[in-house]
Amino acid sequence: DPEQVRELMASHIDTYQDFPEPGVLFRDITPLLRDPESFHAVIGHWSAILPEQVDLVVGVEARGFVLGAPLAYEMGAGFVPARKAGKLPGAPRSISYDLEYGSAQIEIAVDALPRGARVMVVDDLLATGGTAAATIELVRRFDVELLGVSFLLELEGLGGRDRLPADVPVVTVESVQ
Ligand code: AMP
Repeated sequence: DPEQVRELMASHIDTYQDFPEPGVLFRDITPLLRDPESFHAVIGHWSAILPEQVDLVVGVEARGFVLGAPLAYEMGAGFVPARKAGKLPGAPRSISYDLEYGSAQIEIAVDALPRGARVMVVDDLLATGGTAAATIELVRRFDVELLGVSFLLELEGLGGRDRLPADVPVVTVESVQ
């Protein structure tokens, strides 16, 4: 149940100050992944609060893979990786976006999202929203129906939600300050 999931998340996500750089309060979800009961409960609850009829889950490298794949499996959907530049064969579609320092690029295989597919974008965490906004923009270059974007954890106060398009539903399992 949701209350149990909330407790499991509170006790299985660690925080580290000033990692990977000064000023960042890093959330480490790996304790949750390595505890079978927590991993199972979280994926089960998460899949239940997502829209039905998802055809494809797009997971963002790398923690969006670890969470998106079991979510897709649980929902009977397929999984599509949104990868860092240079990893996908063929001629993937690509988007660059700004990071706090420098820029990044993610890619989706050109044939991965067929016309009309109902797509859900998944990542572990919404911080500034830059990664999710870029992923949404990239997915929208395909002729698909974007059902929404979803995160295990939303960090409030970083303006992440405000950077996402207003017409894309956001589903978060948990949010913290
Ligand atoms: P952003 O583009 O700022 O929303 O950051 C999103 C990505 O960076 C997510 O995929 C997270 O994995 C990672 N990230 C950003 N901030 C944190 C944080 N405080 N703790 C852990 N991961 C983070």
